[in-house]
Amino acid sequence: MSIPDDISETTPRFDLNDQPLVNHLSFLSLSPLQSPASTLTRTDTQLYFESPNEMLDFVTKRWQENFVTSDLQTREHVELFIKRPFFLLVHVDAPLYERFQRSNKYHASLEDFVQEDDHIVFGRPSERQGLSQFSPLHDLRDLVNVQITNPFKTILELESYLEELNLLDASHLRPGWDAYFMTLACLASRRSNCMKRRVGAVLVRNNRVIATGYNGTPRGLLNCNEGGCPHCNQSVSSFNVPWECVCLHAEENALLEAGRERIGSAAVLYCNTCPCLKCTIKVIQTGVKTVVYNLSYKMDDASASLFKQAGVELRRFDPTKKFNISVPDPSLVPELGLAN
Ligand SMILES: [Zn+2]
Ligand SMILES: [Zn+2]
Ligand SMILES: [Zn+2]
Repeated sequence: MSIPDDISETTPRFDLNDQPLVNHLSFLSLSPLQSPASTLTRTDTQLYFESPNEMLDFVTKRWQENFVTSDLQTREHVELFIKRPFFLLVHVDAPLYERFQRSNKYHASLEDFVQEDDHIVFGRPSERQGLSQFSPLHDLRDLVNVQITNPFKTILELESYLEELNLLDASHLRPGWDAYFMTLACLASRRSNCMKRRVGAVLVRNNRVIATGYNGTPRGLLNCNEGGCPHCNQSVSSFNVPWECVCLHAEENALLEAGRERIGSAAVLYCNTCPCLKCTIKVIQTGVKTVVYNLSYKMDDASASLFKQAGVELRRFDPTKKFNISVPDPSLVPELGLAN
């Protein structure tokens, strides 16, 4: 990326001593010649900076306002900003062929377009551009906070998608309690060794974690994925294995770990999947007050009805909408029996 020494006279430089504070999104630019300034309407404010540090100082002082820039084009520059709790790195993408069609007027052939794309995404030298001045997008993906994919056919569809995403919602920057604990539950599910599905649970009291759990065989036994539970390891087509499942469910493990004493009377159980009936009765018996789940399980209604009878609040929370975390897709997991 090149930062011009001398900013063009036609683009007046923002005076940092001036205080015309703006409340709407202002476009911050390091490189007026390369910025998409020409696409902005006249009502947009553009501010120009000589260096990333100058830009960082400016936005740090005004962190409660909203700014946009697409001029942090090296990993070094992005890393400078990403340490701040007010910075969000947004990756925008669309299917390759879709992008080719959208920009076809600038490109003679699909081959040229793909070559340029490889240049931008993977940093491959291109005939037209030589070596990159910027970091390839692929090298920045671990820093991305929000991923926006735009396969939409019309601007209207894209706009309604963006409206729902609401990038200005502060929870993109700092997750609320539900997103925080559900993310921990999803992380716990990654430790599962059960062949059936991955479930994680986090038991919380006064917004403090008192225990976590994931599903799998009990301590000292062979892990489920090493053959520890013949029931879970049977093939989808054979249901003849006489064994009962010996895997402990994530909720059971969290409850056992905490013990009734520590659970108290106001604990919240976060689980990435709605509890099965067997777990539901244990959750009720140990005095948990609220259950928050993300993915649906096949007996949600029956569990919900038991929770209702027992006066336990049950609600659903989906962290993926606001928060960039991945959870296993339940449709990919075979439904073999009660074990989860
Ligand atoms: Zn299992
Ligand atoms: Zn099992
Ligand atoms: Zn269960």
